[in-house]
Amino acid sequence: MTARTAPGPVPPAPGPVLLEGGVLIDGRGGEPLVDGAVLIEEGTVRWAGPAGAHPRLSPGTRRVDVGGGTILPGFIDCHVHMTVPGGALNHAELRAMPPSLRTFLSAPRMRQTLEAGVTTARDLGGADTGHKRAVEEGLVTGPRLLVAVAMLSPTGGHGDFRMGTDNGENDPGMSRLADGPDACRAAVRGVLRQGADCVKVAATGGVWSPTDQPDDDGFLEDEIRAITQIAAGHRGKKVAAHAQGRGGILNAVRGGVASVEHGYEIDDEAIDLMLERGTFLVPTLTTANTDPDPAKAASWAYAKKKHWQNVARTHIPHAIRRGVRVALGTDCGIAEHGTNLRELAHLVEAGMTPMGALLAGTSEAAELLGMADTLGTLEPGKRADVVVARTNPLEDIASLSEPENIALVLKDGVAYKDLGLGQG
Ligand SMILES: [Zn+2]
Repeated sequence: MTARTAPGPVPPAPGPVLLEGGVLIDGRGGEPLVDGAVLIEEGTVRWAGPAGAHPRLSPGTRRVDVGGGTILPGFIDCHVHMTVPGGALNHAELRAMPPSLRTFLSAPRMRQTLEAGVTTARDLGGADTGHKRAVEEGLVTGPRLLVAVAMLSPTGGHGDFRMGTDNGENDPGMSRLADGPDACRAAVRGVLRQGADCVKVAATGGVWSPTDQPDDDGFLEDEIRAITQIAAGHRGKKVAAHAQGRGGILNAVRGGVASVEHGYEIDDEAIDLMLERGTFLVPTLTTANTDPDPAKAASWAYAKKKHWQNVARTHIPHAIRRGVRVALGTDCGIAEHGTNLRELAHLVEAGMTPMGALLAGTSEAAELLGMADTLGTLEPGKRADVVVARTNPLEDIASLSEPENIALVLKDGVAYKDLGLGQG
């Protein structure tokens, strides 16, 4: 298939295509089909099942042999920051950067993300609706985006990027500060007005914020509840909470968030509540497990990071053992962009089965995003977001970390990457 490379209006999906000659993992969690096929028409999955059982092909259907690769739903990364470079968060550098430059620099990262096999990504702070529209209009090649626009945070919290003695204006690009339920209502209405698809709140401090700790409380339960209530009243928009220490995790879950992001110090009390309410954990292990670059990271951030890595390494596997719902998110922007599917291997190291990790990156992530009716599995009527891997991830989950093993990427039936598997 000819992969699309030049910017310009997104073309209509090509004529019908039958992908065949590979293992099919459809994202529903059943046994893989050793010889499976997927029929795509008008950007939509028309049929998926055992090769040979496909419906009658309309004239002009192209048959594409995937050469023994694995056919999977396009992956969903529920936690990225396209406007942040990756490797460490350097606020001074980011704040010194004109917003237009942040945007231009995010374009190649968006392409890398799509080419890594991620066809949908949720940006939890930094990218606005312009990023999303640039993809929709074909100006930039990238995953389908959902944007939070900016993280809501209390003064001195994770979204307050001023250094201790700095009393100037907070960087308006990445976050909005609010204190108390009334101010929180105004702040969430503000990002919704700007077109946010979802809402990000800081329920604890964090590694990269200069004046707090990951186990400091961020917004309290009443503030978070005020935000989730407003978001729910806007077509059921979901709230994602940055929450690392145990107290803040509990505040977030009790306040009604849809997902706990990071969750490094998650304990049984939070796990019980999350199981009861169906709250997702997005453990962002790619970032947790990556050592920050000491050349890029401030020394205070480096020390916090090393400590909280160890906290995550004991608590996250416990939550996985207990069966908390997990969705894939990397925090790329803090971690390097473009190898998002490393997260799958980290999830398996933390105790998930390879199939469980694949579901966390497809159908479970689609559930968290509220998009399970159109994304996350290869079933009739779903959007034709399809990835073909050269390898079988059930045998070697880490192989998907290498973008060279992602041979074919289709979004809405249009090929954006083809390394030659899809000749036919
Ligand atoms: Zn993040």
